[in-house]
Amino acid sequence: MELSISDLSKTYSNGVVALKNVSLDIPTGLFGLLGPNGAGKSTLMRTIATLQEADSGQILFGKIDVLREKNEVKKVLGYLPQAFDFYPRDTAYNLMDHFALLKGVRDKKIRHKRVEELLKRVNLWENRKQKLGTFSNGMKQRFGIAQALLGNPKLIIVDEPTAGLDPAERVRFHNLLSEIGENIVVILSTHIVDDVSDLCANMAIIRKGEIIIKERTNVAINSLKGKIWEKEIVKDELPAYEDKYYMLSTRLFAGKTFIHVFSESNPNNGFSLVQTSLEDVYFYYLT
Ligand code: ADP
Repeated sequence: MELSISDLSKTYSNGVVALKNVSLDIPTGLFGLLGPNGAGKSTLMRTIATLQEADSGQILFGKIDVLREKNEVKKVLGYLPQAFDFYPRDTAYNLMDHFALLKGVRDKKIRHKRVEELLKRVNLWENRKQKLGTFSNGMKQRFGIAQALLGNPKLIIVDEPTAGLDPAERVRFHNLLSEIGENIVVILSTHIVDDVSDLCANMAIIRKGEIIIKERTNVAINSLKGKIWEKEIVKDELPAYEDKYYMLSTRLFAGKTFIHVFSESNPNNGFSLVQTSLEDVYFYYLT
């Protein structure tokens, strides 16, 4: 099933235009929605998850009219909020059992089996008797995924999932998302470019409520191939370079300053061609 968003707009009561005619077709698999803080990602995610209203536009998930048939959406949706930081005094097992009950799994044996299966899947079975308040951020996120998977969702929304995870937790979380994203729509909203380049075959960039590019991730990267140039400079020279070149990013590494610029042809002057990354694409469209 595909998620199809057309002309979605939202202005908050304080006048902030959070979404402006957003149109996106999101196929099965992992989809990355990238954008800086304040771009409108959470507003879009929360609207798809039926947690808030849009002013105009339409969202279809298969045949479900998402903005009108909220109960139908809830049957197929798994939502993982920015931080799964609730219920610190409950153990992982009891809480999952409780959520499963809320999802309507009344039979105790079936519920136990499902809870066990999901906690094992996210690698938390060993920690099932531990209270959520004692979990690391990564464990909380994995618990969040497990509860989002209750009820076999067809659409999963994850909002800023890897903020606060250490590298090992991040890898584990990525693997988990890749596995579940094989047959269903998983939307990953994030400002972390590497999350999208590592995981998502399709992506979009949103800025100030508008989608500025939607593309297959490798196509977006290839479109800037041969046009991204790098140079090590002295920090004081930065303003002069900013004046002269189409500057994308500055990186400090081991006390040295490296810049990336966009140029159709070789800018010479000591620049060398680099392999284009999604980060270059991101800055190209946001600059
Ligand atoms: P992101 O998730 O990309 O950081 P948000 O969707 O949270 O972006 O916010 C988009 C814009 O809408 C921001 O300018 C934010 O300050 C504003 N905004 C978000 N929620 C509200 C709200 N409830 N009331 C008013 N403005 C809001």
